[in-house]
Amino acid sequence: MEEISLNLHIHTHYSDGSGSHEEIARAASEAGLDVIITTDHNVLVDGKEGYYTFDGRRVLLLVGEEVHFQARHPQKNHLLVFGTNREMATFAPDVQNLINQVRSSGGSSFIAHPIDPALPMFGEDDISWEAWSVHGYTGIELWNGFSELKSVVKNKLDAIWYAFFPQYMAHGPLPQTLKIWDNLLAGGAKVAAVGGSDAHALHKSLGPIHKTIFPYQFHFSAVNNHLILPNPLRGDLAYDRGAILSALARGNSFIGYDLPASTRGFRFSAHNLRGNAIMGDEITLEDGVTLQVKLPSNAELRLLCDGDVVKEWKNTTTGAHITTRPGVYRVEAYTQFLGKRRGWIFSNPIYVRSNKTHRRTNDYK
Ligand SMILES: [Zn+2]
Ligand SMILES: [Zn+2]
Repeated sequence: MEEISLNLHIHTHYSDGSGSHEEIARAASEAGLDVIITTDHNVLVDGKEGYYTFDGRRVLLLVGEEVHFQARHPQKNHLLVFGTNREMATFAPDVQNLINQVRSSGGSSFIAHPIDPALPMFGEDDISWEAWSVHGYTGIELWNGFSELKSVVKNKLDAIWYAFFPQYMAHGPLPQTLKIWDNLLAGGAKVAAVGGSDAHALHKSLGPIHKTIFPYQFHFSAVNNHLILPNPLRGDLAYDRGAILSALARGNSFIGYDLPASTRGFRFSAHNLRGNAIMGDEITLEDGVTLQVKLPSNAELRLLCDGDVVKEWKNTTTGAHITTRPGVYRVEAYTQFLGKRRGWIFSNPIYVRSNKTHRRTNDYK
């Protein structure tokens, strides 16, 4: 098993971001990331994917896109799309058709910023997801850097404060978004979660003050995805791209807020008499399943089943729980940072299926 770090939902100057792909790759390399995925609005930028090397350190840049129907007002229903190999923006007017087209192209789709409040003083509309009747998407963006900013800024002074001290901003996924995810999971769907920066690195001026708001470098040290791959990356674009996008779609990953402390090394696994499962996988209950958690440093830890907390640890680096109850199990860890309790790690779930359900599913194969 190999852990790699990945930052996604990044805008370049092909849409409303300020940086070039090369500049962004350099910032990612300096932050020590392994992979980044750029997602410009309604354009699949060609010819930028590949390994970029800076001072002997390589970073893999992949290109997806963020699709939404621009004629719609307000412009809701943003979908992050990865791995399609062809432009998807033409399908934007009908969200279900868009999702279907992504699937049939071998790609994956994630509902971007499911809850994204308005910020009228800056002319920002509420651009939450509305099309909840759709099906067939891969997952949701559980933690979005820009939605969270909109949720904490109450006036212009707040905006200036967070522009200069972005490290004070992040607290965790929005509670409404967590609730939506838990409800989708409890409904029986497999829904992978990702964390997205929504990085733009905009240049703003307020009187004599000129500032790059939330530079790429900042985002790359903050909310990242940590993928668990069966094998190390090879340095081969086609192979590595396939392995990364497949792990992301399966949810073999966790979201880590790496600014308070590195989240590298976190593990959540399940074990029964027949074998093991990692985040994103299914396991049958058999006579009981042991769930195990390992944190890279001390923190508050919670184990949830179908959205309810089943066990809590206050100050720990490990947790274990034996269950005989089927359900969708996931883990949250919180830590103290800059005087506040903040979300630190949000795992993808392990799906503990009843023996009966699983055997029945297998019978159909
Ligand atoms: Zn968006
Ligand atoms: Zn975006």
